[in-house]
Amino acid sequence: MFDAGVSRRRLLATGAALAAGFVTAGCATAKGNSADKVLIPPVGPAAPASTAVTSAAPQAIAAPAVDPAAVAAKFAGRQPQGWGMDLDGIRTGFDPSGKQFAITFDACGGPNNNDIDENLIAFLQAQQIPATLFLNKRWIDANNNRAGQLAANPLFEIGNHGTKHCPLSVTGKAAYDIDGTGSAQEAVDEVWGNHQRIITLTGKAPRFFRTGTAHYDDVAVAIVQALGETPVGFSVNADYGATASAATVQQNMAAAQSGGISLAHMHRPKSGTGPGMLNALPALRSAGFEFVHLP
Ligand SMILES: [Zn+2]
Repeated sequence: MFDAGVSRRRLLATGAALAAGFVTAGCATAKGNSADKVLIPPVGPAAPASTAVTSAAPQAIAAPAVDPAAVAAKFAGRQPQGWGMDLDGIRTGFDPSGKQFAITFDACGGPNNNDIDENLIAFLQAQQIPATLFLNKRWIDANNNRAGQLAANPLFEIGNHGTKHCPLSVTGKAAYDIDGTGSAQEAVDEVWGNHQRIITLTGKAPRFFRTGTAHYDDVAVAIVQALGETPVGFSVNADYGATASAATVQQNMAAAQSGGISLAHMHRPKSGTGPGMLNALPALRSAGFEFVHLP
């Protein structure tokens, strides 16, 4: 089992720094209209153009249909009992098979947050390091072609990082001065808007969800699960919302433990995140870690 105690203590000590990184990626900001960036072709093996199943065999049992309206109705009016980043039901680690670790990167989207750290992505591809990329709908909308390329690369799994990047609440509870969703219906919409967007992008439903700011209440956790996704947190807060220096990112990652999950950001190419990861990940590999997708 993993122990997230160290990283959580560090998290508490740096809440302000984390907040600074998230505020500009706020929930209630106007729809981003940033021009798309010049796209750099992906490094590594060419990605398949389609993920469509071509087998002629009878379709396996279809996933049960999810009715988002029914989920919203089921949870309407329920009062939450808990709030935070590591409630029951939020996956902050996994049972490893050996010395395994899962790295994740959020792309928060919105004004000033629609960029991409191409050096970091190229490094992951060159080193064949798998990662889960939690993409916000605003980021996908601003980077449709690039998002499609990333999604088509089996090295990367695409996770759901919300539609408007809201903390997920049924009462409007805020995190880092960003208002959360205000009802069960709004929480459903925050998850489902980007759930559908990712299906359009990848051809399949995302398995994992992380809220903007990584905060949830317990009713919202249950809503995510009812919509067929697993709420994901982290055990290593690697870059404090892309505000940490490269040295700090490296130091945080050095505390990785088997079965852990790191949180960092892929939309701030000028931050310390990329340079820190470029040092930290080979060191972890040399220490015997295997990087894996979230099981
Ligand atoms: Zn985010």
